[in-house]
Amino acid sequence: MAYSVPPLPYDYSALEPHIDEATMRVHHDKHHQAYVDKANAALEGTEWADSAIEEVLKNLQHLPADKQGPVRNNGGGHYNHTLFWESMAPGAGGEPDGALRTAIDSAFGSFGDFKAKLKDAGVNRFGSGWSWLVHDGSGLAVVSSANQDNPISAGQTPLLGVDVWEHAYYLKYQNRRPDYIDAWWNVVNWPKVAERFGAVS
Ligand code: MN
Repeated sequence: MAYSVPPLPYDYSALEPHIDEATMRVHHDKHHQAYVDKANAALEGTEWADSAIEEVLKNLQHLPADKQGPVRNNGGGHYNHTLFWESMAPGAGGEPDGALRTAIDSAFGSFGDFKAKLKDAGVNRFGSGWSWLVHDGSGLAVVSSANQDNPISAGQTPLLGVDVWEHAYYLKYQNRRPDYIDAWWNVVNWPKVAERFGAVS
């Protein structure tokens, strides 16, 4: 079955003032839809057309050669944005607790050190991409990816990601990517991140 853009789990304006309504509308309705349309077009008629996007992204090298690039970019765009919408929530933010917090403190020293590392990876990602908290099989790590590449294609499990493409912040923050990331912490849905952590740890 072809992929589709999942509805936002909250209103377009629900993440104001941190993430503005105009950005959410064009980001979700236009950018994500374009990734879905192009991923569907690339996979149509292949044996992967009915596969979960996670499976496709884990097996990019097994796709027909002429499909690998379009699916890496657009299938990755679909997966990344689906994860991104669920990673945010109105009235969220704060700090994680429980086993996830213990793992963050253990891996990075403190929650503050973790935040600095994720922000640094996002700020220093040249051009377009993502900064991620992943589980790499042995523990937590921060990585960044270019374009719409996703850690699952590298055998890692993404737990949280921040979109640092200009389309994610330019309307409100213009060139100030660091300010956007600072604001984004206020909408991080830690219970969802903890759920993902619980599934892999
Ligand atoms: Mn985006």
